[in-house]
Amino acid sequence: MTKVDAAACEVCLDLPDEMATRHLARKLAPLVGKGDVVALWGDLGSGKTSFARALIRALPAPSGVRGGDEEVPSPTFTLVQTYSRLPADVWHFDLYRVDRPEDIHELGLEEALADGITLVEWPERMGTLLPAERLDLRLAYSDDGKARRVTLVGHGAWCRRLAEVFGHD
Ligand code: ADP
Ligand code: MG
Repeated sequence: MTKVDAAACEVCLDLPDEMATRHLARKLAPLVGKGDVVALWGDLGSGKTSFARALIRALPAPSGVRGGDEEVPSPTFTLVQTYSRLPADVWHFDLYRVDRPEDIHELGLEEALADGITLVEWPERMGTLLPAERLDLRLAYSDDGKARRVTLVGHGAWCRRLAEVFGHD
């Protein structure tokens, strides 16, 4: 089921399996560029890392750098992992273990926001540091727990981009 509410800049999708999560990442990959922020909301195991991994793999790597099948570990312990990609480097944050938003500066947040593509798991940890202009992905378990659902909410330029990709009602 796909539900598009263009006025609210919102798209709801069922993700029956991980393949569907990967498919969504591949669909969104051509839209992301330098300075973009994708906030990945959702409980443990809801698929934040699966989505980020698929997005990172879907982006082309500069020549000479290994691309598509590069290992993309969860940044659970390292807190951030960076990847050389086009059109910009990807910064993949997992802020679950960050207690104070100020600590995020030490992870290179400014550089990520200015020059990179920023993917954030546990964006609630950013507090007021979370940029207003962003794409939100709200991942949730289906009722039987076997599948996932996602609500995409586009803020700023992302509103129009979502409408372009998912069409109007
Ligand atoms: P998170 O980063 O949110 O804690 P992960 O991506 O690490 O979650 O783990 C998600 C788990 O759910 C993985 O085992 C993955 O195979 C599975 N998964 C991902 N997307 C889906 C989906 N759409 N339907 C069912 N299972 C999924
Ligand atoms: Mg994760």
